[in-house]
Amino acid sequence: MFFRKKKTQTRIPVRRMVVLARQAADGVITYAKSCHPNEGILILQGKHKENTTFITGLVIPPFSTHGPFYSGFSGYELPFDLSYIGTVHSHPSGSMRPSLEDLHNYFGVVSLIISHPYDYQTISAFDRNGNSLDLEISAE
Ligand SMILES: [Zn+2]
Repeated sequence: MFFRKKKTQTRIPVRRMVVLARQAADGVITYAKSCHPNEGILILQGKHKENTTFITGLVIPPFSTHGPFYSGFSGYELPFDLSYIGTVHSHPSGSMRPSLEDLHNYFGVVSLIISHPYDYQTISAFDRNGNSLDLEISAE
């Protein structure tokens, strides 16, 4: 599934948008499937520019814990790296919404959730407050 960003001349107040490189999306899907029925979590690498967050890479976090209900790591365990912009984790339950625990453990500027059965349509993006963000999967 490909989405193309429309070029508009008029500058209306922009919603924040998240662009996920297709290669990264494929990696998230593969990882979520390999962790199932447990949750899996990955660090997102990319950059934030104006109102758009570009996710270009994935990093397996050190000391991550896996379990049927919660996966996580402490931000303090991460090496300091400005390219780490958020996390993605899976919801084996199929829920597309962030849990309170997800919001409590929010890291970076974007949080992605991929829910069972793990495909492009079940990836969603959230900000720190749990509001959903527009998500595009790019061709690159
Ligand atoms: Zn969660």
